[in-house]
Amino acid sequence: MDEPLPIVAVRTFVLFPGVVAPVTVMRARSVAAAQAAMRAGRPLGIVLQRNPAAEEPGPADLHGMGTAATVLRYVTTEDGQHHIVCQGLHRVRVAGWMEDGPFLAARVDPLAEADADTPELRLLAAHLRERALEALHLLPQAPQELLAAVRTLDSPGELADLTASFMDLRPAEKQAILETEGLVARLQRVTDQLADRIAVLRLSRGLRAALDMDEDDEPVPAETVELAAAIEAAGMPPEVHAQARRELKRLERIPELAAEHSMVRGYLDWLVELPWRGGAEPAIDLAAARGVLDAEHFGVEAVKRRILEFLAVRALNPRGRGPILCLAGPPGVGKTSLGQSIARATGRAFARVALGGVHDEAEIRGHRRTYVGALPGSVVQGLRRAGTRDCVMMLDEVDKLGHGGRGDPAAALLEVLDPEQNAAFRDAYLDVPVDLSRVLFIATANVVDAIPAALRDRLEVIELSGYTEDEKLEIARRHLAPRQLAAHGLTAERLEVGDDALRVLIRDHTREAGNRELERRIAAVCRYAAVRIAEGEARAIRIGAAEVAAILGPPTVENEVALRAGVAGVVTALAWTPAGGDILFIEAARFPGSGRLILTGQLGEVMKESAQAALSLVKTRWRELGLDAGAFAATDLHLHVPAGAIPKDGPSAGLAMAAALVSLLTGRAVAPDTAMTGEISLRGLVLPVGGVKDKVVAAHRAGIRTVVLPGRNRKDLEAIPAAVRDSLRFVWVEGVDEALAALFGGGVGV
Ligand code: ADP
Repeated sequence: MDEPLPIVAVRTFVLFPGVVAPVTVMRARSVAAAQAAMRAGRPLGIVLQRNPAAEEPGPADLHGMGTAATVLRYVTTEDGQHHIVCQGLHRVRVAGWMEDGPFLAARVDPLAEADADTPELRLLAAHLRERALEALHLLPQAPQELLAAVRTLDSPGELADLTASFMDLRPAEKQAILETEGLVARLQRVTDQLADRIAVLRLSRGLRAALDMDEDDEPVPAETVELAAAIEAAGMPPEVHAQARRELKRLERIPELAAEHSMVRGYLDWLVELPWRGGAEPAIDLAAARGVLDAEHFGVEAVKRRILEFLAVRALNPRGRGPILCLAGPPGVGKTSLGQSIARATGRAFARVALGGVHDEAEIRGHRRTYVGALPGSVVQGLRRAGTRDCVMMLDEVDKLGHGGRGDPAAALLEVLDPEQNAAFRDAYLDVPVDLSRVLFIATANVVDAIPAALRDRLEVIELSGYTEDEKLEIARRHLAPRQLAAHGLTAERLEVGDDALRVLIRDHTREAGNRELERRIAAVCRYAAVRIAEGEARAIRIGAAEVAAILGPPTVENEVALRAGVAGVVTALAWTPAGGDILFIEAARFPGSGRLILTGQLGEVMKESAQAALSLVKTRWRELGLDAGAFAATDLHLHVPAGAIPKDGPSAGLAMAAALVSLLTGRAVAPDTAMTGEISLRGLVLPVGGVKDKVVAAHRAGIRTVVLPGRNRKDLEAIPAAVRDSLRFVWVEGVDEALAALFGGGVGV
């Protein structure tokens, strides 16, 4: 090893031994290195940067192998630029860097290979020569000298280096060739790369003909060649194929730096990446589907049965104008995961398309390409994500489709779902027909009534409601906990989450119809265990109820029933929201005033009216309630429904508001474990309400034991899970007086 070699770092160029090439030297340190080599009459090292962006590359930014080169000429042009012409001598491996001097230098080991002459090498060289000449003939303007050199070079090593040098490869690929040790391996590597290049060059020649280009035009850019290959490989239908070729031709004519270039390029990328091809549609195996649904979902038997019936119809008639399945229910009850199971069960890919808050038709159908930043609509985007036309596409939250934007999103969706139109769906951006007829669409919604009517007509709604505590326990044991364990790299041997712990999580740390919060809490427990194991805990960890308190702190969901109810003036009502059933407290207060009724808690119009009705009803019963005739004139009454941030509306709290007023005015409390729901009429009838099943399940979850319900809702009893039904006392009432008697015992009411 002699003196250190001055090094010029280059960004995108690999110099091979034997090759003469010009190098423009820009950076001050490189200029200094080149001049030092010139002055000393010594070779220079040319080394490729790993990261072409590095401005002042240090050893870490450079490859460890380069080429020693003789500087043949050094030219400084009038504008002050330095150019050198150098000739590669041999490969060098860097043994040590010297960074301190005015230029980069390195101690290097030269790698010289004796040009062995074996039959294998001769054969490889002959083969390479043949392919190299073939490639050169495919090039529009191959220099004659190069052809001559390839024909006459004797040394296989030099032939490989020369060929690698003129091939249009990425710098990293060239560097890999430079670094390939052993002549045989290098020759093979170059020959392989050359085969790929020849395939591309052939394609490009065909393309040149198709694009009406002359032989002397600039070579077809690699971008065009790759796109052309991708277009041919995409399996597009004829109309789309023709459009793609037209756009490719256009792309050729637009300068690369023009904004339009990237627009056309983006468009072609979309065309190329969409799944056009489709083999045989995967058959639906009902037995297998049943197996998957059962394995992945606990309970929800009726739902699974209806999904299977739906799949059975689809299996018989895949293109029929059957209804679209819509899974409806509060968040976290398993709509998405059922959709994913359906995809797995039928051997299809899954893609979710979020529709909540979509106001503008173009979000579904795409923006025309004339808009800056235009994109295809969400359906086509979903199709690309799925990567195949045989997919289950989940149209999420169809009840939250907005209106009032441009066009009607629901109408666009209907077109997507219509088997007579969706085989040739036209997205405004793509502007070519896209076949959606093989997509299995499934919709989801929280509130069925909020789905636009025309869309609702096309849906077969399957309702899912909240889970009982026991069901949640089973779901957590069988599905959520094992999944979270696996996600945290834990096994059941290392971490056991006891049933008592799960019950505490369900009861004291979550308050929801579904399982989302519960899954998050279980994840928190797993994280805690993972940290302990990482810190060296070797024994198995068991989490029981006590540990949950230590990990998650005190209960976050207070037992509100115990806290609030049981005092005069407060009653528990049952409410229904898009998030499922819930309990709600109605609080009443009075103070001296002038007979006003104050209502707070973000009540909607309908709810305010029913508060007025409740008050009127109570007023007409002043005598039966044992009140003074003038009691109301000098008193202001205030009804408040806490959780003020949540808007509340609907008539179904009428009975509870009347009960709260009666409780306040008579000073008698309703039993804290009693809740009620029902609309009231001024004549004192209790009218039926909606959402009874969800409300009752929520009441049960909140620890309620007695529910007072409108008699005409008795028909809903059947839908309530047996476990809930058996542990509650139901009081069915036809009139308000009957209800008051049940709530306050004798002496109140008529
Ligand atoms: P949604 O789409 O209705 O909001 P998700 O599908 O996201 O609900 O469900 C939330 C979580 O609860 C998921 O991890 C899901 O797998 C799980 N889950 C819900 N219902 C069940 C069930 N019946 N059996 C097993 N896991 C369930």
